[in-house]
Amino acid sequence: MTKETRELAQASLDPADWQALREQGHRMLDDMLDYLEQIRQQPVWQPAPQAVRDVFQQPLPQQPTDLAVVHETFMHDILPYAIGNAHPGFMGWVHGGGTPVGMLAEMLAAGLNANLGGRNQIPVEVERQIVRWVQDLFGFPETASGLFVTGTSMANLIAVLVARTATLGSAVRAQGMAASGRRLTAYASAGAHGCIAQAMDLAGLGLNALRVIPMNEQFQMDIAALTSAIAQDREQGYTPFFIAGTAGSVDVGAIDDLVAIADLAKREGLWFHIDGAYGALGMLSPELAPRLTGLERADSVAFDFHKWGQVPYDAGFIIVRDGSMHYDTFASPAAYLRRETCGMAAGSPWPCDFGPDLSRGFRALKTWFTLQVYGAEQMGRSIARTCELGQYLKQRIVATPALELLAPVNLNIVCFRYRCDDADAVNAAIVMAIQESGVAAPSTTIINGKLAIRAAIVNHRTDTTNIDALITATLKFGDSIVHDRNSHGTE
Ligand SMILES: *Cc1c(COP(=O)(O)O)cnc(C)c1O
Repeated sequence: MTKETRELAQASLDPADWQALREQGHRMLDDMLDYLEQIRQQPVWQPAPQAVRDVFQQPLPQQPTDLAVVHETFMHDILPYAIGNAHPGFMGWVHGGGTPVGMLAEMLAAGLNANLGGRNQIPVEVERQIVRWVQDLFGFPETASGLFVTGTSMANLIAVLVARTATLGSAVRAQGMAASGRRLTAYASAGAHGCIAQAMDLAGLGLNALRVIPMNEQFQMDIAALTSAIAQDREQGYTPFFIAGTAGSVDVGAIDDLVAIADLAKREGLWFHIDGAYGALGMLSPELAPRLTGLERADSVAFDFHKWGQVPYDAGFIIVRDGSMHYDTFASPAAYLRRETCGMAAGSPWPCDFGPDLSRGFRALKTWFTLQVYGAEQMGRSIARTCELGQYLKQRIVATPALELLAPVNLNIVCFRYRCDDADAVNAAIVMAIQESGVAAPSTTIINGKLAIRAAIVNHRTDTTNIDALITATLKFGDSIVHDRNSHGTE
């Protein structure tokens, strides 16, 4: 070997000693499997000490560090201080738990380093397979398009953009919205996720163009109020274009009356979108699917495989009934993305024609592995099980006089609180105390003006012992916080 070829060989980032890397890699794999296997013995979450935060305040390293040393830092300073959504005691926000199968598939995807923007490769075919499965599951036609995205926030934005193009024609892409002279308005319930409003903002329609429709007692969008809001906007010269129903609201798991919205959207000629971020995959469960009736009539559905689908982050998805409208919203010619009938540039349209991302990871692989390995039936059972646990938690709350249920339990989300004076402040303190204890991890929300302890049971690992631990911790911290406040008050 000449000096030049030796230097060229050394420029690669591959290891000099593959055997050593192999052994280290196996240790890293074992460590993650240990983490998942033994997660029940660990706290859900623990606050990171300052010394650990300081580890991430270092200058850019100029020289190599041994992989084993970097991995040691991961085990010591990163892994113990994650948010804990893999843990069965995690019930905050709406987070999926992930699976070992998804983790392994993610490693395979990273190994391939596939870029799913397009081109003639089977990884793109895997994504198309998922699109076909979603079409089947949701009762959408074969002409529907689908795309993996980061999450439902992005999926909702894509839906707003496609609906805008459907309303104003594809000339809007060149001319911008103002050229049409029309003022578009959209509709979503007061219980809709904030990313719907954000999508209106990002799409250039403006936050004010979203009409926030009040909810009924069941926390569903009030259809009468929706109907009159549309009529009023028409009278005032607006162009109503988009209704976002929610299937599984973030606060309480409410499912809007999807059939009524579908009927109204059809009568009014509006785009019917569903934010089914976690709820839409309820279609996998024969018990839950009937409650999602109307989903099959949507023009588009946004949802996440990373919530109820348990696929590791991130794996959001958008499906659009009119695939050509979806294509017309995003596809752009570019000389360097020219398509061919064979060779590597064949197989048009490509995923990059259906969204803003050109380079995209292989999210489809971990989703494909998850659905293959567990099967739709088992996935559906694990989803239904989280709803049964929601009912179990509800029963425990109702049977405990010190606790108050604050909202109906539709699916897997339970909102409640500890009864006491100054309940908002006390319950916020209870939630912080529970989180810091590491025993369980609920979050909070506001229900009818009251601060609620909110438990969203999404994780397939959660069982009744985790629910019991949440109740016990709520009562214990509630009693002691109230006791402390009273004794301070009388000092
Ligand atoms: C989680 C959630 C979102 C946001 O989804 P991301 O994947 O976090 O972007 C939107 N809507 C609802 C109802 C949600 O539960």
